[in-house]
Amino acid sequence: MHSNGLAADVVYGVAFHMQRLLRGLRYRSISRDTVTPEELWSHRQFGLATGLITGVTNICNAKCSFCAYPKVVANKTLETGIMSFAVFQKAVDEWARLGGAQLNLTPVVGDPLVDPGLLDKLDYAVKKGIRVLLTTNGILLDKNDTYRQLIDHGIREVYISAQGTSKAMYEQIFGVNRFDESMSGIRHLLEYNRSRGEPIKIGIRFRNAEKPSEIIRSPEFQTYLKPYFSEKVRVNFTVDFDNWGGTVKAEDLQGNMRLRQLPRQLNVPCTALFCVAIRHDGGVRLCGCRLVRNDMDDLVVGNIRENTMKELAEGDRAWSIIKGFYSGQRPETCRTCTFYTPVSRAWLKSRALAKARLQAHPQPAGPQALAKH
Ligand code: SF4
Ligand code: SF4
Repeated sequence: MHSNGLAADVVYGVAFHMQRLLRGLRYRSISRDTVTPEELWSHRQFGLATGLITGVTNICNAKCSFCAYPKVVANKTLETGIMSFAVFQKAVDEWARLGGAQLNLTPVVGDPLVDPGLLDKLDYAVKKGIRVLLTTNGILLDKNDTYRQLIDHGIREVYISAQGTSKAMYEQIFGVNRFDESMSGIRHLLEYNRSRGEPIKIGIRFRNAEKPSEIIRSPEFQTYLKPYFSEKVRVNFTVDFDNWGGTVKAEDLQGNMRLRQLPRQLNVPCTALFCVAIRHDGGVRLCGCRLVRNDMDDLVVGNIRENTMKELAEGDRAWSIIKGFYSGQRPETCRTCTFYTPVSRAWLKSRALAKARLQAHPQPAGPQALAKH
């Protein structure tokens, strides 16, 4: 399908409506059979089946029109920084002790490759036996042969947010003049991965304003990307864009981009509250997916400099945020978030299964982190 432009246009066009329909049906079923706070309580343990994100920096080198980052920087509401090795080490040590299998280095906003200490951090986590992944805009992949270093240091999955193959459109959507660097970095990563026998998974996620067919038919796609497709190297296009809690609006999107409609707000907690994100300063925040004004908001439950992640993720503050959903009380970012995914019985079951699988086989791939950027 990703080789045939017409088929891709049809599938992605239909997917927009299908997802909306399926979401509506799922929400209806959840509202008829809601997981109670008492049932949820026993599933909130931190470790094994939960996700951990260490957002190594919240500084970005792009200004994507579909992201809150350029707005929070322009409004000066985001306090930026880079995670120290000591904070990272503390998080990873605890995560390894808890049996955490997977670690995502992707911050809520920011590009992990901006962190000059990234490779040391990657090295440390890999040596602890943790499967590490990240999402990047690819701009810095070429710098100091980072594409090669990531693979050599043992990264297991790299996801790249790309625009398409039009330089003019890239500059419009990503807000910076870095198209050539980004394409070159992607090319080199694909080539090097192939030359080493595909040790890592690569996902190229088009945040496309053009139709899929326009990208698929372009010479760049046919020459530099398609020859590398395999079981471990995939591309996909974006069906719809979310609103970053209302920060991104329909008028911010261009071309073929469509904003996801605000889902029905059920009085049920969001599944993303069960993934913990460590801010660069050690702040522990529920939900590593989205922010509205900054990442030091009412989803923050403490700091790993003072408590363990487990204490904070399972503590009273975290539980009061989760439980608050049942009475319609939501943190600011969650109020009009189109990323909202309510807890369901199927989700509880999948968490229990993931936990059992990881207990039986401590080293395999952990639960997938949410797609970001
Ligand atoms: S989407 Fe990612 S790459 Fe783009 S501005 Fe936001 S954080 Fe940066
Ligand atoms: S509603 Fe949105 S911001 Fe809130 S936890 Fe879910 S994904 Fe995160």
